[in-house]
Amino acid sequence: MILRLRSDADPHERQKLVTVLRDYGLEVTVLAHGGVPVIGINGHGLPDAFADDLARLPIVEAVVSIGKPYRLAARAVRPEGTVVQVDSVRIGEREPVVIAGPCTVESREQLIRTAEAVREAGATLLRGGAYKPRTSPYSFQGLGERGLELLAEARERTGLPIVTEVLDTEHVELVAQYADMLQIGSRNMMNFALLRKVAATGKPVLLKRGFAATVEEWLLAAEYLLAGGNDQVVLCERGVRGFDPATRFMLDLNAVPLVRQLSHLPVIVDPSHGTGLRELVPGMSLAAIAAGAHGLIVEVHVEPEAALVDGRQSIDPATLADIVRRVRAVRDVIEEPVMA
Ligand code: PEP
Ligand code: MN
Repeated sequence: MILRLRSDADPHERQKLVTVLRDYGLEVTVLAHGGVPVIGINGHGLPDAFADDLARLPIVEAVVSIGKPYRLAARAVRPEGTVVQVDSVRIGEREPVVIAGPCTVESREQLIRTAEAVREAGATLLRGGAYKPRTSPYSFQGLGERGLELLAEARERTGLPIVTEVLDTEHVELVAQYADMLQIGSRNMMNFALLRKVAATGKPVLLKRGFAATVEEWLLAAEYLLAGGNDQVVLCERGVRGFDPATRFMLDLNAVPLVRQLSHLPVIVDPSHGTGLRELVPGMSLAAIAAGAHGLIVEVHVEPEAALVDGRQSIDPATLADIVRRVRAVRDVIEEPVMA
């Protein structure tokens, strides 16, 4: 059962209600950062009269019923949408947010140069992997904690908040000390222990879609984060495995307007992994915004040909500047996506 509270609900009254519900032995989740406060009650077979009583409480705006396996992630919980705030950057509003940076932190020089260049190009968040999920155990695995230190230095120099992947549960605390937003990679979307631990940090999360995950599985992964009391969740479509090796993955732009209908969470698109080919990145960036994405995450390198990881899909800063300019132009001409 989900209670949508009034937007002006007194936090003390809310806490009193939560305490009473917990005293009843109910499992209760409170979401209060990204929009209208919401209380989730995890209990099956609660009597209808109980819902009626709760609906009459002055701080409760509505008892929301959801006929979906995911509940807290469902659009009906916050029809007006959730806004995720990473430092001063707000994701989920009209202005598209561009996250950019190298696939992998390789060296101080590479990262600082790239960070300064993406800021110049108009990006407002810096990406970069310190712990990398590599298909082969023999490939470069990232710089680890040294990479995190370099990201912190790049943030210091550019003012850009940082987004970086956390690969496993044992690193969650360490990565959370450095990162402004924690990325859960495609290969980890169903790592439920990781989802729970990341939720508990309270940090904003970028949840990539598993490349073989259905939209429903993806929203259920988001549900783990929400059920852990963290509503600072941004969904990221990054392509699914298709049948055609002509591109690295098949960027599922259907998913963008679809999840905007199904969920209140912001959604962004990764055209770099979604295509695997830098020539396709500008076009798919614009298509993503036209489809209703709240932003992009793009791999950028000062010397794409020399990138240690994912060079073929990395663009240079000049191309990013062009994308940022054109993305704003697209955004200006499109209406909000049509909601069913
Ligand atoms: C990445 O962002 O560099 C990455 C590894 O992405 P994904 O998890 O989507 O493959
Ligand atoms: Mn990459």
